[in-house]
Amino acid sequence: MNYALRKRVLVTGGAGFLGSHLCARLLADGHDVLCVDNFFTGTKDNILHLLDNPHFELMRHDVTFPLYVEVDEIYNLACPASPVHYQTDPVQTTKTSVHGAINMLGLAKRVKAKIFQASTSEVYGDPTVHPQPEHYWGNVNPIGPRSCYDEGKRCAETLFFDYWRQHGLRVKVARIFNTYGPRMHPNDGRVVSNFIMQALQNQPITLYGDGAQTRSFCYVDDLVEGFVRLMDSPDELVGPVNLGNPGEFTMIELAEAVKELTGSGSQLVHAPLPEDDPRQRQPDIDLARERLGWTPTVTLRAGLAPTIAYFEQLLKPA
Ligand code: NAD
Ligand code: UDP
Ligand code: UDP
Repeated sequence: MNYALRKRVLVTGGAGFLGSHLCARLLADGHDVLCVDNFFTGTKDNILHLLDNPHFELMRHDVTFPLYVEVDEIYNLACPASPVHYQTDPVQTTKTSVHGAINMLGLAKRVKAKIFQASTSEVYGDPTVHPQPEHYWGNVNPIGPRSCYDEGKRCAETLFFDYWRQHGLRVKVARIFNTYGPRMHPNDGRVVSNFIMQALQNQPITLYGDGAQTRSFCYVDDLVEGFVRLMDSPDELVGPVNLGNPGEFTMIELAEAVKELTGSGSQLVHAPLPEDDPRQRQPDIDLARERLGWTPTVTLRAGLAPTIAYFEQLLKPA
């Protein structure tokens, strides 16, 4: 490793699903990683394999409080991401996005660090434009049960762009679309984890509504590659940049694929559609393709296989 290239990188939410994969990738790239997490939805299990690495450091901390550390780059991922989790304490969710962004931006300003924000396709709400390009402003309910997450993330984007304009910070905003892979929460209520857990236990697979709504699923390794490419891109590329896999599937198609790959005999059953559930979602990733040379490479079936293997392992008796 060329020491001139070794960076001190802070990953907030580093003990979560995406954060744990990002920490591993940054260590593999030869950087020093400081993982900050309050373990609200993340776990030590996600980063157990990193704890012996002398270049990895773990700090229990809530990003809604100030943080004084010396780093070169910050990936701000701290925030519960699934509806079950972010609706548990919606006020705390908004605080995490907004106060967390203010604190991390204040930190970045003081130490002149480059800072990356994990924003979300939820800023597009229930989109009226399909697929969603970055210049689409979205269709978000400001007072519904999803608003703490959607509006919190929208406000965080506003803060990132104001710190960029007002203080000249180097910022990078990624809008992440549905991502899956090993270390997803088994009971976070999201569709990929639900369907796999149900299929593996031969329980009914719950299609909310008619199951014809669509999502586009990105495998975690592809996404992390996009994160790193965006962080390393020229300073003028601030984003927002959509990161996701444009392959679009109905929930019925996903259920069928999971059934087939698990060899499960589960029945498909219908359950009520949650309020404000977007009808369709697909990223327009032209910008990421053009500016980052990034395009997802893992197909849904290829990515489901290791994800299913992970959940199988979790279900094994200890
Ligand atoms: P996750 O819940 O697994 O990870 C979030 C992590 O943040 C957890 O480890 C949690 O303990 C931590 N955290 C929560 N509040 C905190 C606080 N106040 N202080 C410190 N740590 C805190 O979720 P994930 O899927 O890994 O998502 C990571 C980021 O990516 C989130 O910001 C999420 O909004 C964004 N994102 C994820 C997806 C996806 O499909 N997974 C899609 C769009 C955006
Ligand atoms: N902050 C932090 N770590 C730092 C510097 C700042 O957590 O190293 C927090 C600080 O608590 C402040 C926030 O970041 O509330 C915003 O900082 P900024 O300098 O932008 O604003 P100000 O301190 O003037 O309110
Ligand atoms: N969904 C479903 N069955 C489940 C869980 C989710 O049909 O057991 C649907 C849900 O209604 C939504 C889609 O799957 O239309 C994706 O849901 P998820 O919570 O994973 O992601 P998000 O809605 O945040 O994109």
